[in-house]
Amino acid sequence: MRSMEPEFTIIEALMLRMHEKDQQSILSGELADVVNVLFKQRGESLTISPESVGRKLSNLELHTEVLGSAGKGLKFTNDVRARVHALAREYRIPTLQMVKGCPQCDAFFPGAGEVGDEA
Ligand SMILES: [Zn+2]
Repeated sequence: MRSMEPEFTIIEALMLRMHEKDQQSILSGELADVVNVLFKQRGESLTISPESVGRKLSNLELHTEVLGSAGKGLKFTNDVRARVHALAREYRIPTLQMVKGCPQCDAFFPGAGEVGDEA
């Protein structure tokens, strides 16, 4: 089941952060923290390191870069946003994560986020 793969949770975490207002990038360390919280919420005992997150992002054709002195991370460029949304569709991330008013959600998940979402 794809939802058991770490990639599923990484993409889910990216979708969560990407839809936060004024969020232009995420550090690998931050992303690992979000993923580990999601793992914990699901009662999974595994944890993931920032390095491992970076490698998995590369495998997904999402390439981290040095973001100032804070370390490596992923910039939410339009290309990256489109790629993450395409992956979310490929991995069947629940449409709960989709946001009304997000141009990429509109493009990749037409009709999603229209019910019960006051954001
Ligand atoms: Zn979106």
